[in-house]
Amino acid sequence: MLDRVLDAGKKYAIEVIEDGDIAIDATVGNGHDTVFLSELNKLKKIYGFDIQETALETTNENISKVNTTTDVELILDGHEYVKEYVKESVKIAFFNLGYLPSGDKTITTLPDTTLTAIENICQLLEKRGRIIITVYHGHENGKVERDALLDYVSELDQKQFNVLQYQFINQKNNAPFLIVIEKK
Ligand code: SAM
Repeated sequence: MLDRVLDAGKKYAIEVIEDGDIAIDATVGNGHDTVFLSELNKLKKIYGFDIQETALETTNENISKVNTTTDVELILDGHEYVKEYVKESVKIAFFNLGYLPSGDKTITTLPDTTLTAIENICQLLEKRGRIIITVYHGHENGKVERDALLDYVSELDQKQFNVLQYQFINQKNNAPFLIVIEKK
């Protein structure tokens, strides 16, 4: 069977992560990606960003329950300010666009800040590094963000980046899809 979208995203990350690498979870939420990355026990450090304090609190709790030696720094700030916090090369970055399903649905990622963050992380990516973006486009802002994202990533210089779209095109109800940006 083909991998589901979230599983495919994890696989694209695992393929390239090596001991001592640095990762970013740009939309921590309840911390599923942060926990997944920390449990690999390979990364030197994970920087996690979210603008909601409750999201970081939940994630802190979830991290404390798993067996990890990875240094996890959770940052209460927008991912658009990534360069103020991350000064080293990055191998993997995860984005889950949209709103936190269990939280305030009016707080969503937004096109401008998402694109600023992606642009900045592209500059921090090391060779073979990947940005893995799950796009939820069922809600109103989601459609605008999806279109802005697709416009932006389609124009990334093919000499520098590979850009992949992984999507089940026969699924109904705006099923999420994946964009993977890889630094050549
Ligand atoms: N991956 C998460 C999980 O495991 O639960 C789900 C993430 S949820 C779809 C999107 C998250 O992005 C929300 O928690 C929201 O607060 C956060 N967010 C929105 N704008 C942001 C920004 N500018 N910087 C960082 N996080 C942001």
